[in-house]
Amino acid sequence: MAHTQQVAIVTGGSRGIGRAISTRLATQGVSICVNYSARPEPAEALVKELHTGGTSAIAVRADVSDPTQVEALIAQAEAELGPLTILVNNAGISAPATLETYDEAALDRMRRVNVNGVINTIRATMMGMKARGYGRIVNIASNAAIGTALPGTTFYAATKAEVLILTKRFALELGHTGITVNAVCPGWIVTEMARGTATEEEFSARVAEMRERTMVGRVGAPEDIAAAVAFLASPEAGFTTAQVLTVDGGRKDYIGHS
Ligand code: NAP
Repeated sequence: MAHTQQVAIVTGGSRGIGRAISTRLATQGVSICVNYSARPEPAEALVKELHTGGTSAIAVRADVSDPTQVEALIAQAEAELGPLTILVNNAGISAPATLETYDEAALDRMRRVNVNGVINTIRATMMGMKARGYGRIVNIASNAAIGTALPGTTFYAATKAEVLILTKRFALELGHTGITVNAVCPGWIVTEMARGTATEEEFSARVAEMRERTMVGRVGAPEDIAAAVAFLASPEAGFTTAQVLTVDGGRKDYIGHS
């Protein structure tokens, strides 16, 4: 396929890791649809920043767990920016729980965002990508899916493990159509999600603890994940599919077998 203009949707692209992915792809000349679900301000501020840098960008509100909203998101992105070449499934939420504190409604909501969200966006984009014979899909999972054991993340980890198996199976299903599907498993990355409800003191203690657990001796930044996504989303990555790239600074408290 001749790449006249690359166009990406980054779900949850307004804050944290998604913001870094949006910004990184924009520096490579990609037009960006910044998706968000609840807070328009960060999305609109980012779009303004991207425009200033000369990037075509729009912000579109859609809850990825709702297939109807996702279809409208894809339609708007393609109408305003052009045919999609890149889909980054970054939107995700964490609902901490243990067997004791299990809350079915909260965990069901988490599954619908983290798992169904990936299915909804891929189903809505794949027809166009198939017709054009080209697509790059990158799913943001978590190293929790492959072996970490932070307290309260069991059910979150299960949703991300689902994302990994879906990545491999969708890659199998779509590979012959020119679409690659890969996953990135971030380690502990400083964002609002990682901060959660911790006080400054608790957060500093957590940063120190996580720094100690990594081989490279630091915690992750959203840009660390964006760099990995940029490779998997590039035309040069066409022979790389069904892969899981763990970007966690080399955790010492477990060895991931990804
Ligand atoms: P974050 O700071 O909480 O940002 C989440 C983003 O997702 C926001 O843009 C948010 O938009 C959006 N979002 C939430 N629910 C959505 C929905 N239903 N539909 C559409 N957008 C939605 O999170 P983050 O730390 O950057 O995490 C990004 C991804 O990396 C997630 O999938 C997360 O599970 C994964 N991850 C994070 C870490 C980490 O340490 N931070 C580690 C491993 C994996 P609103 O402004 O509308 O809420």
